[in-house]
Amino acid sequence: MRIILLGPPGAGKGTQARILTEKYGIVHIAAGDLFRENIKNKTALGLQVEEILKAGTLVPDEITIKMIAARLDQPDCKNGFILDGFPRTVAQAEALEEMLKKKAIKLDAAVQMAVDDDELVERISGRFTCSACGEGYHDKFKKPHDPDTCDKCGAKDKFTRRPDDNAEAVRTRLGVYHSQTKPILPFYEERGLLKTVDGMAPMKDVTAQILALFGAKDAPAKGFQVKKNG
Ligand code: ADP
Ligand code: ADP
Ligand code: ZN
Repeated sequence: MRIILLGPPGAGKGTQARILTEKYGIVHIAAGDLFRENIKNKTALGLQVEEILKAGTLVPDEITIKMIAARLDQPDCKNGFILDGFPRTVAQAEALEEMLKKKAIKLDAAVQMAVDDDELVERISGRFTCSACGEGYHDKFKKPHDPDTCDKCGAKDKFTRRPDDNAEAVRTRLGVYHSQTKPILPFYEERGLLKTVDGMAPMKDVTAQILALFGAKDAPAKGFQVKKNG
């Protein structure tokens, strides 16, 4: 499986990518996670992008493309990958197409996760993550069983919130999505790769919709409305 998850901030890209990774063992490549890792480790790249992430604008294409190209060169990407949060501009989509062409690799799909703006604000303001294992949670939609303990890895007092998940940065990120990222939808539509799932549905239903796109055998065959190129 080689797919791109496209969607505004808070659409559920990371949530679905983590589920699919566990199910199929495919590598999850999240541009935002790679940047945050570099910021945490105070690398040259991290220092360069820290203020950009805080503000919620995009890291310049040149830097982002270089980072993703290096990641896709790693041997663990050979059997498939889920790209989460890349590409986010038409220039990045074009660069990705070139990279994959050189590797003689074809994308299976670009999956758009459609979610209303009001819902996104609620999702982002309630989001928190286990810093030990990366599992994502939500104050309302996905609470851990014990408020201080990660359900997945058992770490205690390791929950963190992103500095860019504040009202101001969220508004900026949504604006950036509409002005810079949405224009890549026609790029994938023209190539017959664009698929749309209803990201407003509960988490497990969104997973089922994505699996149904690939005819996975444990996806519910009936009763699911998978919109095409909507
Ligand atoms: P979200 O959860 O809001 O979708 P991400 O974790 O994917 O956020 O990204 C966080 C931030 O990292 C973005 O606001 C942006 O500053 C930077 N970033 C992530 N992906 C890209 C990209 N493809 N191009 C440029 N900047 C990016
Ligand atoms: P993205 O990676 O697209 O920015 P996340 O996967 O981090 O989005 O999801 C944002 C927040 O919304 C998280 O707190 C997550 O637990 C929650 N969430 C994800 N998918 C859904 C869903 N289908 N319904 C309700 N909440 C969701
Ligand atoms: Zn954990």
